[in-house]
Amino acid sequence: MASLFARLGRWLARLAGQGHSCKGQNRAVSVGFDGVELVRQQYQESEERFRRLLESLPRVAVQGYDRQRRVIYWNQASTTLYGYSAAEAMGQPLEDLIIPAEMRDDLIASHRAWMEHGRSIPPSELELVHLSGERVPVFSHHVMLGEHTDSPVMFCVDVDLSDQKRAHRDLDFATRFDALTCLPNRQALEGQLNEALETCLVRKVGLAVLYLDIDRFSEINDALGYEQGDQLLSQLARRLRGELRLTDLISRVSSDEFVLVFLDTGQCGEVYHLVSKVQYAMRQPFMINGVERSITASLGVSIFPEHGNGARELIRNANVAKNRAKLDGLGGLQFFQRHHHDELVHQQRLVEKLEQAIERQELELYFQPQVSVASQRVENLEALLRWKPHDSDVFVPPDEFIPLAERSGLIHPLGEWVMEEACRQQAAWRAAGFRETRVDINLSGRQLLRANTLTRFEACLERHGLAPQDVGIELTENVLIDAASRVLEDLRRLYHRGVRIAIDDFGTGYSSLSYLKHFPVTSLKIDRTFMQDSPIRPADRSILEAAIFIGHRMGLEVVAEGVEYQDQWRLIGQLHCDLAQGYYFHRPMSAADIPPLLERHTNRRVAAS
Ligand code: C2E
Ligand code: MG
Ligand code: MG
Repeated sequence: MASLFARLGRWLARLAGQGHSCKGQNRAVSVGFDGVELVRQQYQESEERFRRLLESLPRVAVQGYDRQRRVIYWNQASTTLYGYSAAEAMGQPLEDLIIPAEMRDDLIASHRAWMEHGRSIPPSELELVHLSGERVPVFSHHVMLGEHTDSPVMFCVDVDLSDQKRAHRDLDFATRFDALTCLPNRQALEGQLNEALETCLVRKVGLAVLYLDIDRFSEINDALGYEQGDQLLSQLARRLRGELRLTDLISRVSSDEFVLVFLDTGQCGEVYHLVSKVQYAMRQPFMINGVERSITASLGVSIFPEHGNGARELIRNANVAKNRAKLDGLGGLQFFQRHHHDELVHQQRLVEKLEQAIERQELELYFQPQVSVASQRVENLEALLRWKPHDSDVFVPPDEFIPLAERSGLIHPLGEWVMEEACRQQAAWRAAGFRETRVDINLSGRQLLRANTLTRFEACLERHGLAPQDVGIELTENVLIDAASRVLEDLRRLYHRGVRIAIDDFGTGYSSLSYLKHFPVTSLKIDRTFMQDSPIRPADRSILEAAIFIGHRMGLEVVAEGVEYQDQWRLIGQLHCDLAQGYYFHRPMSAADIPPLLERHTNRRVAAS
């Protein structure tokens, strides 16, 4: 842009120079008449070319002003920029035409100073006035021609900056606001919150930061599509804004996460009141494309000054509390506690290590036998994943690392490894002549969200030359209830091919028995919590009894988990449970310990063919 002005300026200045030489005809006379005529012609041609050039520049507005600043030249681009036609502009003083009132006196003085003292007006960004009264941002460059003559002409060369200004504004908006909800983004919120914290310090008051994360938003997005997901977010943003007081802050900090800041609130009671208003607002259904949709969100709260001094720390701690709330299930609420943060750091380190567990061969499958209650024969082996990090002597409990793997997505490579290893091991045992025991693997809900998990399982069986009866799967009831129809179709196919499908931890999930008949399952594994006190607590005993009874009525095989003591063993015998799994018989053991066990038990070793 600057070089364009420089060139135009030089051109206009050269033209002014030519004007001088034309006027100083004394010098030309000595050149002779033909020479003068030639110079005049060249000058006229040059001026014509220049005029044509100025007229043809659509975005460069050029105006010429005489000694009294009256318009003597007005190109088409000036009409486009300022709204006056050339005919309307001609003869009008510059200051009455496009100069805002507040600049008028300065302009007249500067123009005079240029003509009288040669002090040029420097190029600058200005806001001039359109015929409609609107302001027009321009970059204006000025050239004085014939400066030292009786008829100096000032040319103004203006370039419209509206597009750049708009682009700047858009960029500024994009860097500080979220385009979908028009709420401030995380950076903008941090700035606002830091300012608010300074006010809090002066006024000696507290504030509360609420971190809100929509539960299972990615599933909502997958099910309804991004467009409806966006509608939901916009509606939620409007609703949340409606819950705020004028001084409170709100931001969309990432796709499905919002942060709300309640100023002047440090007391738990007040915070609970505000949070419950937000919870209430969330509970009302959203109308998306004419259909009512309900959502839940996990909430975390941090309070100033107890949980941090700066914006970043308070937001992070509210997020830590929210992550903690997520562990409690859908729609949870947690206030920040220091140990949550330490726990999170510990978990993050574990996830980093877990990422390398497969490569470093730190994983192993243990197998826990299931024993027939009638014959005490080992019927099945449940494959249970074990992980011993390279820098540790002990196993990390699966209850600790499996949920982490699920949240971080690592469950997919881990699950694949389990599938592959269980099939490989079962094929090896089959080849060694152990033909009668089945191996069961656990599949988590997150694994089934991947469309091809079950087809990969079938492919894995085939790759290892196994029959569908050789390896079964265990799923929890919630996984079945939440399963997409595509997953249920795959399960039905597996069921009809003869794969054993067990409901794991039965009794701890939805526990609605009516759903059982809708799902393709072959066994129930009653959770060990019902086993613990069943010999002494009539309530637990009744649940156990009912589960075994209903399981049998539905033609399912029933397995009692966590059988540790003789009286439990005796009880499940009386209740005609089919299989028992627990420390009373066998703890989970390494693959190497399985063949001697199978040989010792009644499982006959069939000669390998
Ligand atoms: P689960 O599938 O219900 O597995 C049974 C758990 O109960 C095992 O814990 C087993 O060691 C334990 N157990 C068995 N008998 C007794 C007993 O008599 N008393 C007591 N107190 N516990 C007993 P483990 O191996 O720690 O596994 C815990 C959970 O981790 C499993 O529960 C399963 O949900 C998950 N898990 C383990 N391996 C895998 C895997 O490969 N994939 C997935 N997705 N989850 C797995
Ligand atoms: Mg299991
Ligand atoms: Mg279980």
